Amino acid sequence: MARQTTNKHKKSIKVMGSILSLLILFGLVLMAIQKENPKEALGPWAIHDPNRPLPPVVNPGPPLPPVPPSSDAIIIFDGTNLLNWVDEKGQPARWKVESGYLEVAPGTGSIQTKVGFGSCQLHIEWAAPYPPKGSGQDRGNSGVFLMGLYEVQVLDSYENKTYADGMAGAIYGQYPPLVNACRQPGQWQSYDIIFEAPKFDADGMLLKPARMTILHNGILVQENAELTGPTAHKARPPYKSHADKLPLVLQDHSHPVRFRNIWLREL
Ligand code: MG
Repeated sequence: MARQTTNKHKKSIKVMGSILSLLILFGLVLMAIQKENPKEALGPWAIHDPNRPLPPVVNPGPPLPPVPPSSDAIIIFDGTNLLNWVDEKGQPARWKVESGYLEVAPGTGSIQTKVGFGSCQLHIEWAAPYPPKGSGQDRGNSGVFLMGLYEVQVLDSYENKTYADGMAGAIYGQYPPLVNACRQPGQWQSYDIIFEAPKFDADGMLLKPARMTILHNGILVQENAELTGPTAHKARPPYKSHADKLPLVLQDHSHPVRFRNIWLREL
């Protein structure tokens, strides 16, 4: 009787071992598929899917004074002028420069840096208009476009619902933020973006997709996310070969969003 029990015991350990091996194998295959096809990493969600779960709300603490740039940083906006920027036609940027910040002048178009950047660590501070006006995407909307192509959404997501992949801290149309770390409108907020530019070979084939890690108000909201291509509204276009360095763009989405203290470190 005792021997029978031991045999049964051994058998069940063997079965459990096989199941475990199968599960590990399944996990590895799944990881390999995800690595090969970033679209898998997006899960079953269609672009701007209203059913995609919204991330939990996290209070990031009170606003902070401007974060001083490091000694090796390139200062893109120091609060005094727009000399490093032009509009979409290459003409002087017409956004408002006030005491220490710049503000979207609705209707004048997006602005872009005169010089291009590739992989970088970008620090940028922004504030949504106060009092808040509108709802969903129509409230405190702007955007930080790395290389003019890859948008980190700027939106007043404080008690303002919209589709998950279009909230503050989202990689627009691709990845919702891990948490909603938005401060109240009118308060200064920060993004720290670690951006790895995509790489293409001489024939224009994609060698390495773009990646982003983002802190919103010091809170991790994107962790090494692999972009499926340029960001777009209601579309996930594929990569198209481009230069190693392209201008940084800030979006005019018709709302007087403010920015200050913009600097980056090239990587
Ligand atoms: Mg936007």
